[in-house]
Amino acid sequence: MEKSLANQVALITGASSGIGYGVAIALADAGAAVVLNYHSHAEPGEKLADEIEKAGGSAIAIRADVSDPAQVAKLFDVSRARFGGIDIVVANAGLQKDSPFADMTLDDWQLVLSTNLTGQFLTCQAAVKEFRRRGPSTVSKALGKIICMSSVHEVIPWAGRVNYAASKGGIQMFMKSLAQEVAPERIRVNSIAPGAIRTSINKDAWDSQAALDKLLQLIPYGRVGAVEDIGKAAVWLASDESDYVVGTTLFVDGGMTLYPGFTNNG
Ligand code: NAD
Repeated sequence: MEKSLANQVALITGASSGIGYGVAIALADAGAAVVLNYHSHAEPGEKLADEIEKAGGSAIAIRADVSDPAQVAKLFDVSRARFGGIDIVVANAGLQKDSPFADMTLDDWQLVLSTNLTGQFLTCQAAVKEFRRRGPSTVSKALGKIICMSSVHEVIPWAGRVNYAASKGGIQMFMKSLAQEVAPERIRVNSIAPGAIRTSINKDAWDSQAALDKLLQLIPYGRVGAVEDIGKAAVWLASDESDYVVGTTLFVDGGMTLYPGFTNNG
């Protein structure tokens, strides 16, 4: 049976670790050639690209800071030169810089907003231009597919992290507005909102038994998520299996958004 993303090219930002890394592996397993964007550490992305190539796939690792317009443009130029076009873009790169509100510096605010929100703006704008440039796809029903990596914090407020929550709240309306604008061209834009997924971004929340027990109280399904949970969702959202799914946030969170504090009558 042909793989669901055979003959397609996927670009994933922030793919040298965590969720981006897991999504890249899942998309490659589903048959896509993958562009692995990394920010500062070349080695993990280059090693993964090498492994994918050795296993018979196609992959390239490219350095770019998603908050820099010139670097994002170059990321897409180099990808186009290597693969001829792009079918799927996963705007995943993101970070946290937590601090109590009154102590939060303007730098902490701007770093998070420029990476998590402006970074997705620049990545998605380059994606839309690239889909239009290439024109109708011969490998997918859509002209192109965009997946924004959001968070449960697009709807759950998060004290001590107003910058992060504001960036993800922003992604919610950014994604929906963009989806509405480009759907007539058959560009599908959706988000994935992960709950607690075991990566370096939230290591403090799961790397001791006490922290893990506290975290599990927020997850009705009773386990911390794995990057593979997000990878599978990304493959589905990128494939024609979800061709009628437009402007939706897919929560992959073990029920974290179900107000678990109300389980025993609040
Ligand atoms: P992570 O720290 O492992 O991965 C983030 C990646 O983004 C890193 O590879 C980092 O190098 C890259 N990055 C940061 N700034 C960048 C920049 N300016 N340009 C290019 N790349 C940059 O953490 P993760 O958990 O894998 O996070 C990935 C995404 O998932 C983020 O958008 C995060 O907000 C979101 N998310 C994660 C969780 C979770 O529980 N892990 C939950 C909800 C949402």
